[in-house]
Amino acid sequence: MSITEAYRPARAYAPPVSAPSARRLRTLPMPALDWNADVERETAHLYDRVKTVIPAVEWPFFAPYIAAINTLKRERNAVILAHNYQTPEIYNCVADHVGDSLQLARDATKVDADVIVQCGVHFMAETSKILNPGKTVLIPDSRAGCSLASSITGADVRLLRARHPGVPIVAYVNTSAEVKAEVDICCTSSNALQVVESLGSDTVIFLPDQYLAKYVASQTKVKIIAWTGSCEVHERFTGDELRLYRDNDPGIAIIAHPECPPDVIAEADFTGSTAHMIDWVRTRRPKRIVMVTECSMADNVQAELPDVEFVRPCNLCPHMKRITLPKILDSLVHMREEVVIDPAIAAKARRSVERMVHLKS
Ligand code: SF4
Repeated sequence: MSITEAYRPARAYAPPVSAPSARRLRTLPMPALDWNADVERETAHLYDRVKTVIPAVEWPFFAPYIAAINTLKRERNAVILAHNYQTPEIYNCVADHVGDSLQLARDATKVDADVIVQCGVHFMAETSKILNPGKTVLIPDSRAGCSLASSITGADVRLLRARHPGVPIVAYVNTSAEVKAEVDICCTSSNALQVVESLGSDTVIFLPDQYLAKYVASQTKVKIIAWTGSCEVHERFTGDELRLYRDNDPGIAIIAHPECPPDVIAEADFTGSTAHMIDWVRTRRPKRIVMVTECSMADNVQAELPDVEFVRPCNLCPHMKRITLPKILDSLVHMREEVVIDPAIAAKARRSVERMVHLKS
């Protein structure tokens, strides 16, 4: 029921740099990026998907990149995995698989392609590599980090284990491969409660998100020992801000991600992972809604459900926004930046991720 201890983040985790092996793969010529009648015709069905969120005047900028990326994907035998926080032109027009971290991790185990381009942040690309050691995994900008992943290191986890011998450790997937290698099992915001309760222990160490830890603790009898990391996007929301929306429109629906602070969750009609939030909107079809999470997700759901009005307190994740169409194209042309993980660390991390992926839902 309770959070007993909290630990302060120690030092930043630096993602590994690109590997030379990727550079050896042949660079292809950069495709032409002209806006013309052929490109317009070829991409018309894709514009139809995003026309409610991308003005027609902007499409001639996006469409040549989209056409070129989709052609290069075939040439490279590549697939694109895109997180729910990617911008609509990526999410709707070049991605082959979309979803939250859990869905993308599951999809990564089923990918039948030589190359995975991860449109998300670095820990997501690492998770794809951990699950696909034989494939080339690229991230269009390896600087796409995460405040949660950078809040804890493998050495911190070893210290926690020494301090709490015998207590199982659950790591949110928003962690580096070296942290995943030190823990017993991973979880996402979709399955955090299920994972904690699956361990059969009365006490569990849960890291690194203090707010997700608090949310899980409020739903279970298991005692949670938490780390004090936080998401720089979700911790910016406040309960006061949400009360203002309700004061202006008492009928408005408010749904929140569990990475938000408790006063925000207290104001929400529903709390859940990005996948659960999307399902909630699809099922309930509220007239007006505030989705208390990263801003692009509202655009992506709006593209699918034009009858729902999204009120947007727009907090953008600067790391997710490092991924753009020009960088995805550059990634496929030059086969960069390849994600590389020490094989010994990857093998240990795989055990934690696979234990989560294979957990019965
Ligand atoms: S939204 Fe938060 S948790 Fe997600 S990648 Fe950005 S900083 Fe990390």
